[in-house]
Amino acid sequence: MAIIGIDLGTTNSLACVCQDGRAVLIPNSLGENLTPSAVSVDENGEICVGAVAKERLISHPEASASSFKRHMGTNKTFTLAENDFTPQELSSFVLRQLKEDAERYLGEEVTEAVISVPAYFNDNQRYATKEAGRLAGIHVERLVNEPSAAALTASRISGEEEGSYLIFDFGGGTLDVSVVDYFDNVIEIVAVSGDNRLGGDDFDEVIARSFCAHHHMDYDGLDQQKKATLLRLSEKCKRDLSEREETVLVWEAEEKKMPLNNLLLAGLSQNLLDRISQVVDTALRDSARSIDEIDEIVLVGGSSRMPVISLYLQTQMKRKPGMVASPDEVVAMGVGIYAGIKERKQDIKDLVLTDICPFTLGVSVVNYVDNDNPIMSAVIERNSVLPCSRTAHYTNSCDNQCQIEIGIFQGESYYCQENLKLGVIEMEILPVKKGEACLEVRFTYDIDGILEVEVTDCRTKQMRRKVLASENLRLSEEEIESRLEELRTYKLMPCGGIRTKIVMARGERLYAQTLGVRRQQVSVMMQKIQKAVASRNDQLIAKCLKEAEDIFDRLEEW
Ligand code: ADP
Ligand code: MG
Repeated sequence: MAIIGIDLGTTNSLACVCQDGRAVLIPNSLGENLTPSAVSVDENGEICVGAVAKERLISHPEASASSFKRHMGTNKTFTLAENDFTPQELSSFVLRQLKEDAERYLGEEVTEAVISVPAYFNDNQRYATKEAGRLAGIHVERLVNEPSAAALTASRISGEEEGSYLIFDFGGGTLDVSVVDYFDNVIEIVAVSGDNRLGGDDFDEVIARSFCAHHHMDYDGLDQQKKATLLRLSEKCKRDLSEREETVLVWEAEEKKMPLNNLLLAGLSQNLLDRISQVVDTALRDSARSIDEIDEIVLVGGSSRMPVISLYLQTQMKRKPGMVASPDEVVAMGVGIYAGIKERKQDIKDLVLTDICPFTLGVSVVNYVDNDNPIMSAVIERNSVLPCSRTAHYTNSCDNQCQIEIGIFQGESYYCQENLKLGVIEMEILPVKKGEACLEVRFTYDIDGILEVEVTDCRTKQMRRKVLASENLRLSEEEIESRLEELRTYKLMPCGGIRTKIVMARGERLYAQTLGVRRQQVSVMMQKIQKAVASRNDQLIAKCLKEAEDIFDRLEEW
C-alpha cells in the first residue's frame, strides 16, 4: 500500500507519490495538482473542498472558510452555515479530499501519509496537524518540515546532492526563509526565519488599494462581497504580471479599470519588499552564513513566481535564485520523495532528515523583583539540531520550601507569560535553606516533536517525569520509552538563560534576537539588573545599567 506525501498549505494543498524513485504529483478530479485549501458547506449540508469552495468564499462567505491553517493548534472555531468546526476538522476535510483523489489515481486504498508542516510550527500546531490526519482516516507516518522537503526536491532535481540551500518559501499568507544543509546524506535545517503575516495576499491587497485610490473609492468601506471580488480581480492581475510585463485590471460590474505593470507593482510594494528582506537577513544571520556560502537559492511557493520578487531577491543578494521546479510544487514533491523513503523502496537511498527545534524550550524561574512574572530559563535553544537532550540545574528560591513547581514553556520571550505554556511538573523536595537544593532538569526533544522533561532531586534522587505532546503519536508507551532511552545517549551540554525600563526592554528584545553565548550574556545582565533593583542600591543599579548598556551596544553592533 502506497504512502503518500501531502503538502497541507495555507492557500493550496497537494498530494504526491513516489513511483520508481520519482516524485509524481497527484491531480485532483479537475485534473489540477493544486487543491485550494478552502472548505464550504452547501445547501444540502454537504462539504465541498477545493476550487468550488474557493468560489463559494465569495458567493457564500457565511458557509465557507479558508486560511484555517493559520489557526491550527488554537481554540478558534469556524462557523460554516451554522456548523462549528475546529481548524483541524476543516483541515481534515482537505486531507480527506486529497486522500480520495489519490485513491482514485492510484487505484488502491491510501491509509498512510507524510505531511509537511512549517518548521516553526509549535507542539500544539503539530499535534493539531496529526489530529487532522486522524480525523481524515489517515495514519500520519511522520511530519516533515517544509524546508527539508524543499531541499530534498532541489537536491534531486539539480542532481547536486550536496550543498547549502537557502529556501525562500513565499506562499499566500506566509513567508518562510530557511537555510538548509545537505551533506553526507544528512539534511539539516540550520536556521529558520519567517513572517506569518506576509504573503501573496498582501500583494493582492496592495493592488486593490491602488485601484481604489485610482478611482477615489474607499477600500476599507467596501462591503465584504465587493472587497472579495476586487481582491480576486487583483490576484488575477498579479498572476498576469508573472506572464507579461503589463496588464489591465478590469472591474466590469463597476465599469472601472486600471493599467498596471511590474515596475509600478514594485513601487507599490516597497513596504512589503523591505519586510521580505528583513526575513532573509535574519535567516542568514541566525545561520551565521553569508550569501556567498549558500550554494543554491531555491524559490518555493506560488508567490515566488512574481517577477517583482525574483528581481528583488536578485538585486538584494546579487545572485540569481534558481528555479528547480514549479515553486508551488516543490514542497509537495519533497514530501512525496520522503514518503518513498519511508516505504523503503530499494531505488531510494536512505536519507536521514535532521531537523531543528524552531523555538526555545525552557522552564520558569523566579523573578525576584516581580514574583508574579517568572522569567524564562532556556534549556533547549532555538535552532538546536534534533534530536537533542540538554540538562540544566536549578535550586530553591526560599528557605524550607518543600514543594517546587516547574513550568515548562516554549518561545522566545524573556518573560514566561509571553511564551506558550506546555505543562508543569510539581515535586516535593527536602526542606533546606534557600539555594541549597539541587534539581537537575533534563529536556529531551525528538524529531517528531515529543518533549520529555525529567526533574531529579540530586540529593534524594527522586525523579518526576512528564512526556508532552505524546498523544499525537501512535506510539505505544514502550516505543516511546525505547525511543527516549536511545535519545538519552546523546551528548549532553550544560546550558544556562525610566532607564531601567528602557534597558530591560532592550534586553528583552536582544534576548529574543540572539542565541547562545550572546543570549546568555543578555540574560545574566537582566538578572543582575533585577537583583540590583531589588536591593534598592542606586549606585549598584547605575553600575549594572551602564554595564548592560555597554554589552547591549556591543551585541547590537555584532
Ligand atoms: P501556500 O503555501 O500558502 O498554501 P502557495 O504556495 O500555493 O500557498 O501560494 C499561493 C499564492 O501564490 C497566492 O497568493 C497566489 O496568488 C500566488 N500565486 C500563484 N501563482 C502565481 C503566479 N503565477 N504569479 C503570482 N502569484 C501567484
Ligand atoms: Mg506552502
